[in-house]
Amino acid sequence: MKTEPFWWEAAKPSPTGVALPDSVSDVLIIGGGYTGLSAALTLAKKGQAVTVLDAEMPGFGASGRNGGMIGNLLKPGLSGLIESYGTDRGCAIYKEALASVDFIKSRIAEEGIDCDLSLTGRFYPAVLEKHYRAMNNDFEVRQKYLDIPEEMVGPGDYAEDVDSPGYKGGLRQHHTGGLHPAKYVTGLTKAAIRAGARIIAPLRAEEIIRKPAGFAVRTAQGELTARALLIATNGYGGGFFPFLQKRVFPVGSTMIATEELSENLVASLFPTKRMITDTRKMLSYYRPSPDGRRVLLGARPNVFPAPPEVQARSLKKTLDSIFPALRQASVSHVWSGNVAYDFAAMPTIGKHDGIFYAMGYCGSGVAMSGYFGHKAALKILGDPDGETAFDDLPLEDRFYYNGRPWFLPVAMIGYRVRDYFGF
Ligand SMILES: Cc1cc2nc3c(=O)[nH]c(=O)nc-3n(C[C@H](O)[C@H](O)[C@H](O)COP(=O)(O)OP(=O)(O)OC[C@H]3O[C@@H](n4cnc5c(N)ncnc54)[C@H](O)[C@@H]3O)c2cc1C
Repeated sequence: MKTEPFWWEAAKPSPTGVALPDSVSDVLIIGGGYTGLSAALTLAKKGQAVTVLDAEMPGFGASGRNGGMIGNLLKPGLSGLIESYGTDRGCAIYKEALASVDFIKSRIAEEGIDCDLSLTGRFYPAVLEKHYRAMNNDFEVRQKYLDIPEEMVGPGDYAEDVDSPGYKGGLRQHHTGGLHPAKYVTGLTKAAIRAGARIIAPLRAEEIIRKPAGFAVRTAQGELTARALLIATNGYGGGFFPFLQKRVFPVGSTMIATEELSENLVASLFPTKRMITDTRKMLSYYRPSPDGRRVLLGARPNVFPAPPEVQARSLKKTLDSIFPALRQASVSHVWSGNVAYDFAAMPTIGKHDGIFYAMGYCGSGVAMSGYFGHKAALKILGDPDGETAFDDLPLEDRFYYNGRPWFLPVAMIGYRVRDYFGF
């Protein structure tokens, strides 16, 4: 069993070299995932001298190892957003999530990125009737205020989405879908370089030093200077920027891929090739591979860190319970990555002490991260199109969190108990 992402078989992230620029960059971006690369692409196309640093390789973080599912659901739901921010602002925030899907489609088309984009839709099956009711309530609010091609389907009506009995129905979306995440990040890297961005990796940004006309960042190769700085480190930032470390925390997620299966078997499990995410607190997400020969599933398998084989066994058990027909199939790949959350469970974009940041997509950043990278780039340029409905939403800290998410196992145990007993 391989412990690298299955996606890397087709598009493995690779180092880009460590030659530092000999002049001051207009913008220095820390983090070479979808956020940082998308920002770099926008800035370079607008004639800026852009440098991107990645501690490992572009696409090494979540961007090269995620499920590749493109979606637009925000964790609080439209009803939650309206409750917190009022109808106008709540709807405006939601519309940006919808816009992020249009954005990723057009960026992939404009840059000619070959990444198996397939907008076959998504299905969110309800595990319990009360999940269905909660989902239906938010669906009705979305129908009232927004125009989204989606529908609720009952327990007997989801055969076209997934061949797994026992769900209580669910939400079917028609305008979302999936892509090959590592091909997408590789394509973005190439597009940013083509537009003139300099990408330096592996090279870790170690410290930010303020200068009269901008910033310097200390690295093992020396200092890099820039007029503006964007932090796009998501769930991999560690203690590099303490303001974010206290407000954005990493949550691990693990995925498995099965061995190659017969195309007919995979097609029978996913008749319309939709991406599936269930409604558990400790949710599972699963999909066919783009070539239709494997099944991939992700979740958080263990409360405490465990070796890959243990995690793979646990996820395989989940997969078998969803698809008994896969009991004989073996697991070919298991890998993990960090998802970034903040305490409001909302993506965040802004500026602190003159330093821009965009991150915290709560496991739904495939579309949103590129969109926020683009918006962050426009903000840096002072372009009014950089405004978003997320601007100025509070990014809160907690007195009990200082960079070590000790509370996650406690929360996970609570979630598991709730999933088990259904409350
Ligand atoms: C297993 C898994 C499954 C997921 N599935 C989905 C899905 O199906 N759909 C969806 O929408 N979202 C999914 N996500 C989330 C999605 O992948 C992320 O929201 C998105 O990739 C975030 O991109 P990013 O560029 O902000 O961060 P990342 O891609 O994580 O990039 C951050 C980069 O910063 C670099 N870095 C960190 N510190 C430094 C430093 N000091 N100096 C230099 N570089 C540094 C890291 O090396 C890393 O490459 C998943 C995530 C994981 C882990």
